[in-house]
Amino acid sequence: MFVKQSVPTPVRKPFSGPRRNTSFHADKVEKKEFGPAKNPLRIMVLGGLEEVGRNMTVVEYNKEIIIIDMGLQFPEEDMPGIDYIIPDITYLKDKKDWIKGVIITHGHYDHIGGIPHIMNEIGNPGMFMGKMTAGLVRKRQQEYKSAPVLKIKEIDEMTTLKLGSSFNIEFLRVNHSIPDCFAVVIKTDIGTVVHTGDFKIDFSPVNDKPADLNRIAQLGAQGVLMLMADSTDATHPGYQLSESVIGEEIGKLIEKIDGRVIIGTFASQLSRVQKIFDLAERHGRRVSLQGRSMNDNVTIAHEIGYLKFNPRLLVEDKDLNRLPDNKVLIIGSGAQGESKAFLTRVVNHEHRTVALKQGDTVLFSSSVIPGNERSIQNLMDMIVRQGAKVINYRMLDIHAGGHAKQEDLKLAMRLFKPEYYMPIEANHYMLQANADLAEAVGIPRDKIFVADNGQVVSINRADNGKVVAALTKEKVPTEYIMVDGLGVGDVSEIVLRDRRMMAEDGMIVIIATIDSKTGSIIGNPDIISRGFVYMKENRDLIEKTRMKVKKIVKDKNPMTAADDDYIKNKIRNDIGQFLFNATKRRPMVLPVVIKV
Ligand SMILES: [Zn+2]
Repeated sequence: MFVKQSVPTPVRKPFSGPRRNTSFHADKVEKKEFGPAKNPLRIMVLGGLEEVGRNMTVVEYNKEIIIIDMGLQFPEEDMPGIDYIIPDITYLKDKKDWIKGVIITHGHYDHIGGIPHIMNEIGNPGMFMGKMTAGLVRKRQQEYKSAPVLKIKEIDEMTTLKLGSSFNIEFLRVNHSIPDCFAVVIKTDIGTVVHTGDFKIDFSPVNDKPADLNRIAQLGAQGVLMLMADSTDATHPGYQLSESVIGEEIGKLIEKIDGRVIIGTFASQLSRVQKIFDLAERHGRRVSLQGRSMNDNVTIAHEIGYLKFNPRLLVEDKDLNRLPDNKVLIIGSGAQGESKAFLTRVVNHEHRTVALKQGDTVLFSSSVIPGNERSIQNLMDMIVRQGAKVINYRMLDIHAGGHAKQEDLKLAMRLFKPEYYMPIEANHYMLQANADLAEAVGIPRDKIFVADNGQVVSINRADNGKVVAALTKEKVPTEYIMVDGLGVGDVSEIVLRDRRMMAEDGMIVIIATIDSKTGSIIGNPDIISRGFVYMKENRDLIEKTRMKVKKIVKDKNPMTAADDDYIKNKIRNDIGQFLFNATKRRPMVLPVVIKV
């Protein structure tokens, strides 16, 4: 059993001068004599190649596996009632004892959200992540009573790990919109693979260390076999803005506002939140935090020192409305128009303390996630109708994304100098845009792999010692695993189809009481309609349906008196067809047969 294995302890080395890794020089590796590798090094991205979300990558070598990230994806509009989607781990189910560790690049939900649902399924192996990430993962795990206690080791850019006998792991500090983000360097005797996680390069980040370009260049000089890099902003030209520039822009805005300032952002955008705290202090405003995730994240980050502010800046709800308007700054979630989030509750008059009024300014400080455009427009309409002003990032450049744009990606490619390149973490067209960039900096097209979820990359050492990578046609399972409330994977495509049907055309329940001896119907069948037709206005249709049900029961085969399944199916099919002919709608027909 894997659980008995002890978790390797990260080795910390004192930092002295330019960092050189003493244990694993690529040149040292090259000097060794290698025969053909017995097994190829295999890379499988289980999620994150056909979507933004549910990131999870498996690296396998000599019957050992390491996993990078375990994220969730928010559902599409045609998946009613689904909370989120997590990666399919079918491939790992019979390989629990191969798994030597799980590495998490940073604390965003599309990289940590699957953890409470997956870790038990794969034998709860040791986990490695930065301090901020660990805080968020532990907090989330507490919300799942049946989830196991995780074996987390905190890492930083000084950590080197040996996982199993095949993998030597190092971490590179990169920037993003949350502190403590790491790219993962995986060294094996067949070559070095680098996985960037989400990243941008920021020379003046807020409350975080800048990406370590020096070390990236060193690694490049030692030889990187494959670079797997973030494609989220690969379609955007230019360089990503520094987080501190954004902060200054927000500062200029706040300076001019006399009324209350309400800022809608992501709870996970902690670098932004830090800057807002600094500005509040500078402009003499007290800060009100709204929304549970915002409060949780700020508390965790403050406790471990990743957010720095004077706790006296915070104002509780009960005191909020006693402050003069020009002393108030409210930070809340819901800038994407999410239905239960702070901003939506405010405009719907469902918030206990905050109601909008003349003089308020609402600042949208987060990019629009594709698909949310309409709900955000509705939200802005409602805010303006209630007398407040709206400023969004498109009107004034108060937004910087957390992801490398085209020039940043090219810089990373130039420094890492990978032999092979694999775009990851986005929809297919963005992966393709990233691949085009790689070609533009001189990586040959046949060494750039634009893969689908589950498609296996195989890296082999040929007889002459040359290492060759290939994108194979082999695919491991990557179904959508849907999480619905606390249930995992118990919502199938059939359940979804039913929900869609009910949402679109409603449902109709037909209750027939049948004499169990004779099989004849007793009285009139009851008919209940929800979301299909208004019964009072459609008496005629309902009456015809009733007659039809009576006829179905009456016409039944006399040999099958007790077979209510037959009657149910017949009602479902015939009444479904009848209602479709009459209304051109397909409500869900739910027959209930009661035998007395
Ligand atoms: Zn992220």
